[in-house]
Amino acid sequence: MTTPAPLTSAQLHGLACIRCGGQDGELAPAGHAYTPSAPGRILYGWAVVGHPDCLRGDDDVETNPGDLRVAVDGYLEPATAPFTAALTLVWQAVRDLPMVDYQGRYMHRLLGSGSTLAVEQLLDERGAVELPLDLGAAGTTTVRIQRGDGLTRAQRTLARYTVEQLPPSPRGVSHWAVRDTQTGELVRDDDGEVRRFSTESGASEWRQRQGYLAGYRSMPGGVAR
Ligand SMILES: [Zn+2]
Repeated sequence: MTTPAPLTSAQLHGLACIRCGGQDGELAPAGHAYTPSAPGRILYGWAVVGHPDCLRGDDDVETNPGDLRVAVDGYLEPATAPFTAALTLVWQAVRDLPMVDYQGRYMHRLLGSGSTLAVEQLLDERGAVELPLDLGAAGTTTVRIQRGDGLTRAQRTLARYTVEQLPPSPRGVSHWAVRDTQTGELVRDDDGEVRRFSTESGASEWRQRQGYLAGYRSMPGGVAR
C-alpha cells in the first residue's frame, strides 16, 4: 500500500477538487482538510471543495456515522453517544474554557457547526484523534475522540464487501465477483453489468482498493507526515 500524495496548494485553497485534483466543472464545499501547524500543536483547517460526484461517498458516512467515545481531560468524563450528540458533549465541555483565540475559533468550527464531516476527516487510521488545548494560565487539556465501534472507515469498508465465485457459464468458465453486503447485490460496473473477475485475487484486489480509498478519505486531508 502506498502513501497518498500530499494535497496540492490548489486543493488546500479550494481551487481544485479535494478528491481528484481537477479544477474544471462545478466544485461544492467539502468540509475541511487539516495540516499540522507544528509537531504536537493543533491543526490548520482549510475549507476545501470537490466535484459532487467525487464527494458522494462522504455523504454516506455523514448520514450514518455511528457512535463516538469522547472525553476532555479534567472537564468531561469519557462518554459514548451517537456521533452528533457526542460532538455536542465535547463542545459544551470546552466552549467556556479559556482557550487561546485561534484554538477557540478552531474548536467552534470543528464542533459547533452541526456537521460531522470535519471530525470524520480528522480521525486517524485507528478512528481516533487527540486535540491538545492551550488554556493559558489554566494549563492545558486534551480532547479525545474515538470511534465507538473501534473500526476505521477502511476496515468498515472491507467488512462491507465479500468476494464470491459465480456459477460457471455454459462453457464451464468460472468468474469471481464482489457482493456489497449493504445492498445484498453484486457490485456492478459503470455500464450496469456485474463486475466480473477472472481470478479470485482480482476480485480481492478490487475489494482491498475500496478499503484503501475509504481510508484515504478518512485521513486528515491525506497529508504526508
Ligand atoms: Zn473531482
